[in-house]
Amino acid sequence: MEGNGVRRTEGDPETVIVGAGLVGAVTALYLAPRFGPVTLLEKREDPRRAPGGQGRSLVVMLSARGWRALSDLGVADAVRGICVPLHGRRGHLPDGRTRFTPYSRDGQPIWAVERERLHHILLDAAEAAPGVRIRFGRRVSSVDLDEPAVLVEDRHGRHRLTCRRVLGCDGAHSAARAALEARGTRAEVRRLDLAYQEIDVPGDRLDGTMTHYWPSGKAMFAAHPLPSGRFSGSLFMRLEGPAPSYAAAAGGRDLFEMFAAHFPELTAVVPDIAEQLAAKAVSTLTAVRCDRWVWQDTFALLGDACHAMAPFMGHGMNCGFEDARVLVGCLGASADRAAGLAAYEKSRIEDADAISRLSYRHYFTMADPARAETAVGVLRGRLTALFPDRFVPLYERCAFTEESYASVLRDEQRLDRLAADLIDRHGTGLVSASDDRLRACTRPLVPDTTTLEDTGCS
Ligand SMILES: Cc1cc2nc3c(=O)[nH]c(=O)nc-3n(C[C@H](O)[C@H](O)[C@H](O)COP(=O)(O)OP(=O)(O)OC[C@H]3O[C@@H](n4cnc5c(N)ncnc54)[C@H](O)[C@@H]3O)c2cc1C
Repeated sequence: MEGNGVRRTEGDPETVIVGAGLVGAVTALYLAPRFGPVTLLEKREDPRRAPGGQGRSLVVMLSARGWRALSDLGVADAVRGICVPLHGRRGHLPDGRTRFTPYSRDGQPIWAVERERLHHILLDAAEAAPGVRIRFGRRVSSVDLDEPAVLVEDRHGRHRLTCRRVLGCDGAHSAARAALEARGTRAEVRRLDLAYQEIDVPGDRLDGTMTHYWPSGKAMFAAHPLPSGRFSGSLFMRLEGPAPSYAAAAGGRDLFEMFAAHFPELTAVVPDIAEQLAAKAVSTLTAVRCDRWVWQDTFALLGDACHAMAPFMGHGMNCGFEDARVLVGCLGASADRAAGLAAYEKSRIEDADAISRLSYRHYFTMADPARAETAVGVLRGRLTALFPDRFVPLYERCAFTEESYASVLRDEQRLDRLAADLIDRHGTGLVSASDDRLRACTRPLVPDTTTLEDTGCS
């Protein structure tokens, strides 16, 4: 008999994880050595048996939080071997200028990896780990939070599997999350007003040490280098609202004309773009926000199941890996498992919400260069450069530290307010004032920002 008063069948796992995606595999690897046998149930067939099976070439960025998990789990070296280091992003602006933004001020790279190849490494590691079983072709149709148990469908029919806890790692359209919703949890699943197409880009005209992007007001094309020397491209466009819009471009030809109008330079970079636009699937982006992630001592959500977000900061997976690390830490910190799960939820919800907001906002920063050129935008940039210890660029803080995303968001909001306040007090001319004057004007508002003598700001 288990602590929750339910008789479990001998051989039932301690933990059932719903979904063997990136986050499910990482969670299993963290959990099994400390908390007993784990069974991963995955509705799809084994992706390693059919490489390229989903027809996707998606590249994801690994940042410090992701590497922390991969190192903890002993797979960092294997993953590094299939990564491309990237030192920044080059914007190819509509007026013909280019703008390079380093990812970090000290030259550290972030790492691009094909999501499918990373997934295979994680599945191999999970399968080889003592105490982890992966069962493909098993769809979980519902979760019983009380027993706890899952109802599983496979080619033999349906059966019930009991366990001590269920972890929902089944992505944005999570079936596991439905069990929490049935108990009153509010979950918001929102289709974002952006859609994208993955486009294969030859590498001969682009520098392979960085990300490239072409902003065009409301649309954007981004390309990430692959180890093969080619690039994985993504065309992002609005679904509705002001053009350009996928909804307005009904067929392949219209889409090509729209593409050529917004990204004329790219028609030479990707010679078969018309064919690709006509042939490749259009995918939508979903954001998930959920006001509870756990149930007593029996259930928790991780990854996209509780915080799917826009991809523009490159943190959905990194944040999901951090969920797994924090969850195991919280469970290990107390013999009271319900308290452990509650601590996990408390420490993650605000952070996930913050990176989700930052990620959506980052699309507009990248897609619309005019935004960075407003007085507030330019002043923010100058303050960040002038006070490097006080204001660390947003992207760098998220990608190279494990600081709370929520505190990064709060500091961003403070910097916005500071820049707006300085302009209110001193006028837009402050944007092009000398460094000394800017320092002096900033000092009364943020005392620890200057070491210089007051140079007479009026
Ligand atoms: C264009 C794009 C670019 C991105 N770039 C980045 C990036 O640079 N960096 C980054 O960190 N993140 C990035 N992301 C986000 C990242 O891909 C996701 O956050 C990550 O894949 C989420 O992993 P997950 O395991 O939580 O969910 P998923 O990857 O969705 O995996 C869920 C798994 O559960 C299975 N499943 C679903 N329902 C059931 C069920 N009922 N029963 C059993 N199994 C089930 C699914 O088949 C799947 O295998 C990007 C996303 C997109 C779309």
